[in-house]
Amino acid sequence: MSNNLEISRKKIRELDRKILILINERLNVAERIGDTKKKSNLSPINLKVEKSVLDNSLQISKTIGLSEEFSKKIINILISQSLKVQGITSEGRSKYLYGVFEKAKEMTSKGEKLIRLEIGEPNFLCPPSVKEAARKALTTNEKTGYVSAAGIKELREAVANKVNQTHELEISPNQILITPGGKFGVFAGILTTVSEVNRLLLIEPYWPVYEECAILARTRIDRIHTVLDNSWKIDLEKIKEAFNAGTKLLILCNPSNPTGNIIPEDELKSIVELANDNNVTILADEVYDVYAFKPFKSILETSCNDFIYIQSFSKRYGMTGWRVGYAISSPTTIKKMQKMMQISATCVPEFVQKAAIKALETDDATLTKFSKTMKKRVEIASKELNDSPLSYKKPDGGMYIFPRVNIEKFNSQDFALKLLAEQKVAVSPGQAFGDYPRHFRISLGGSEEDIKEGIHRIVKMIEKWQDG
Ligand code: PLP
Repeated sequence: MSNNLEISRKKIRELDRKILILINERLNVAERIGDTKKKSNLSPINLKVEKSVLDNSLQISKTIGLSEEFSKKIINILISQSLKVQGITSEGRSKYLYGVFEKAKEMTSKGEKLIRLEIGEPNFLCPPSVKEAARKALTTNEKTGYVSAAGIKELREAVANKVNQTHELEISPNQILITPGGKFGVFAGILTTVSEVNRLLLIEPYWPVYEECAILARTRIDRIHTVLDNSWKIDLEKIKEAFNAGTKLLILCNPSNPTGNIIPEDELKSIVELANDNNVTILADEVYDVYAFKPFKSILETSCNDFIYIQSFSKRYGMTGWRVGYAISSPTTIKKMQKMMQISATCVPEFVQKAAIKALETDDATLTKFSKTMKKRVEIASKELNDSPLSYKKPDGGMYIFPRVNIEKFNSQDFALKLLAEQKVAVSPGQAFGDYPRHFRISLGGSEEDIKEGIHRIVKMIEKWQDG
C-alpha cells in the first residue's frame, strides 16, 4: 500500500517536471514571437490570436475530458506569462496623477500660491444640515462605536428608497454596501470579481485607480483606446473582440473622468446586450452623474444582468473628506464586497452614515445649482480653449476637460511639472489616464477666476513650448 502511494507520488513529481519543461519551452517560443513582432512592427497584443489559442485549448480539453473552466484558467495564466516575457507589463499610472498632486500640495504648504486645476474636488460646501446631523450623532447620541460592515440599516434603506424612487426600481437594502467613498467600492468590486485567471477591460482614457486595482488583483488588463478625433466614441467591435477573448469585468466610467463623455443610450444598450450574452460583469462608476449636461442613462436603468454600481457622496454633495459612498449589486456580490470591508476598513463611522442620510434628503434645487455651476464652468473653460491652439471636446458631463496639445512628441508629464514650477498652475498629465502624452486634464472643481487664469497661463506656456 505505502509502496503504491510512493510510486504515485513519484509519478506526480515526474509529471510536474515534464509540465514545467513544456511551460519553459512555451515561454521560449513566446519570446521569439515577441522578437518577430517587434522587428515587423506588429502590435504586441492580438486578441484574435489569443482567442484562437483559448479555443484550441478548450477543444483539447473537451477531447481529453478535462474541465473547460480549469483549462481556461491555465491558458489565461500562460498567455499572461507569455506577454510578460515579451516585455508587456502593466506598471500602473497613478504615479502621474498623484505625483503632480503631491508636489502641488507640498508647494502650497510652503506658502506658494498655486492655481490647482489637478484636484478632482468640487469646491461646493455640503449642506449645513449634513454637518448638523454629524454633530448631533457625535455629541448627543454618542455614535462613535463599531457598526455593521454592510452599513447601518437606516442608511441602506434610505439609499434603497432614493435609488428606487429616482430610477423606478426595486433594489433591496441587502443589495447595498456602504463604503468609505466610491473608491473603496471600485477597489472591492474589482478585487472580488477578477484574478489572474480572467480578464478586465478598460476604456482608455480611464481613471488610473481602476488599473491599479486590477494590477493588485493580478488580472489581465485589456484596453480599448478611444480618441478625441472620434469624439471619444467606444468601438463596439473592439468590445466584441475583447469579450470573445474572455473578459470577466468591464469598467464603464459614465460620465467619464477624464473626458466628460456620456455614453449615449443606444450605445450603452448595445454594450449591455454584449455583456449579457458573454456573462460579463459591468462595474459602472457613476459618481459624476449629478453633473450630466446631456441625457444620461444609468446602468441601473438597463437590462444589465450582472453589474456593480458605484456611487459616492463626495462629488454629489460636496463631501469628499467624509469618505462615504455606496455600491449596488446582487446580494451575493455585495456579501463578498462586505467581507472586504470587514477585513480592512471595518465600517464607515456611524456619525458619517447619519450625516449621509441627511445628505440624501438634500433638495433637488441644491443639486441642480451644483450642476448648473459646473456647466457654467464648462462654458467658461470652453470659451478660453476656443481661443487657444488646443484641441478638445466639450464635456457632456462630469467635472473635467481633457484637451490635446498639437505638438508632435509632446510630453504632458514634463509639461505639467514645468507648468507647476514656472506658471504655478497644476494640471494632471495625460499619461495618468492611458497612452495620452499629448493630453492633460483640467479639473473644473475650482473658481471661475482660477479656471480662466489657469487656462490663460497654460496657453502662455504652450506658446513658449512651441517656440522651443
Ligand atoms: N470614481 C471616479 C471616476 C473618480 O474620479 C473618483 C474620485 O476622484 C471616485 C470614483 C471616488 O471618489 P470618492 O472615493 O471620493 O467617492
